[in-house]
Amino acid sequence: MRPRCAVCGIGHESNSFSTLRTGESEFRIRRGDEVLSASPPLPDGVEWVPLLHGSAGPYGQVDLGTYEAIRDELLDLLQAALPLDGVLLRLHGAMEVEGLGDGETDLVRRIRGVVGEDAHVTGSLDLHANVSPKLVADTDCLTAYRKAPHTDAAATWARAAQHAARALTTGLRPHQALVKLPMILPGEWAVTSCEPARSIYGRIEELDAADGVLDSSLLIGCAWTDSPHTSVSALVVSGDSPDTARMYAENLATEVWDRRREFGPESEVLEPGPAIEAALSHPGGGVFLSDTGDNPGAGAAGDLPIMLGHLLEAGASGVLVGGLRDEESTRRAVAAGVGARTTLEIGGKLDTVNGAPLGVDATVEATMEDRLAVVSVGGVTVVLSAGRIGSGCHEIVDHLGMDLDAYQAVVVKCGYLYGYARERCRGSIWALTPGWTDLRLERLPYQHLRRPIFPLDESASLPRPGPPPPASNRVSSTGGSR
Ligand SMILES: [Zn+2]
Repeated sequence: MRPRCAVCGIGHESNSFSTLRTGESEFRIRRGDEVLSASPPLPDGVEWVPLLHGSAGPYGQVDLGTYEAIRDELLDLLQAALPLDGVLLRLHGAMEVEGLGDGETDLVRRIRGVVGEDAHVTGSLDLHANVSPKLVADTDCLTAYRKAPHTDAAATWARAAQHAARALTTGLRPHQALVKLPMILPGEWAVTSCEPARSIYGRIEELDAADGVLDSSLLIGCAWTDSPHTSVSALVVSGDSPDTARMYAENLATEVWDRRREFGPESEVLEPGPAIEAALSHPGGGVFLSDTGDNPGAGAAGDLPIMLGHLLEAGASGVLVGGLRDEESTRRAVAAGVGARTTLEIGGKLDTVNGAPLGVDATVEATMEDRLAVVSVGGVTVVLSAGRIGSGCHEIVDHLGMDLDAYQAVVVKCGYLYGYARERCRGSIWALTPGWTDLRLERLPYQHLRRPIFPLDESASLPRPGPPPPASNRVSSTGGSR
């Protein structure tokens, strides 16, 4: 009889600095076969039992009731699916639940409570996961993305599934070792096509091929989740012994720690004023100007009008603000109609910590249903959206038949460019704007981070490797941030 393995999970990247909450309406829940619909086929030899997967885009902490409702449904389904030999989890790793803390730690502990200590629990994580030692203790094998921007989600999921299938069909019990580095990085400092991330991640497959190693991950963490587990982590899984896993995890951690000062941006990073000046004088135009502090791709609101204010102050023209979330202004512009002049109080309604609405006289250029409006304010064109915006404006811009190449500069609410923006830009400049995804971590009001931590505290240091763990211990964990 084939071993039975449940497939499930909850995925969220939570920004703790946001005052907003991720609620029920933000989550997309897939149930049954739909759980597998967006993934590559799972390996043969195992009876896969898809149950439930819930995911929401990066935003504020998850509302407790929302999390509990999804979790409890998942646990009920798991209970009903017993007996199970294993569980294959799709997680993010940076989910923070209001009043509860680390969501993945809670979820996996409760899953263990249903399936028992003997079931094999495998999971896939985002590269920006903040891994807790308890999460590692309650799982048998975790593997994470190896590329930022993330172009390897499917490959990571396939690898996790292969690990699960191998363990379930052979009875292999792997050993995991986690080393928490006393170090945080904005994701923007670790684009994997840039040094030092490129060469460190370039060695991961080599590490996987080392004697006794099954899998290895370097997790950059999510610096905008303020949790005791927020840090860079090295995680190695061995089929041989805890000592092997631990030795390789410590080596990887040491390599990263030794190169910690080399991590940095792939693009020019400037204060907003000079960033705009540089974009406006860029030969040939087509520059993408990242509004890095208000990046919805890392949980910010995407509604701060700070860059727009700077652009108007600079008398900029030929600039497109490719997406700003503001339901009220969008509806007002739509109601006014194309060609109308109207006064708007743009943005600053969701993130009221870092900004305030910006009063402007605007002309309505285009609208789409009651969801989108394009307005011009002086020489600046602004795409207003009633709902959440992604980092890229291409879908909106394509819908509206606008020509991106016609602009000297396009302001996008993101950090590093990905997808369409990355392909299309003729230059990339990052503006150091304030917000819930501020790249200057020292400006953020951390309360839960383990200190000292690099780069906030110069006294941070990587603890020397300790004595080997007892052989019976499934997980070994070292480091300054347990
Ligand atoms: Zn990520």
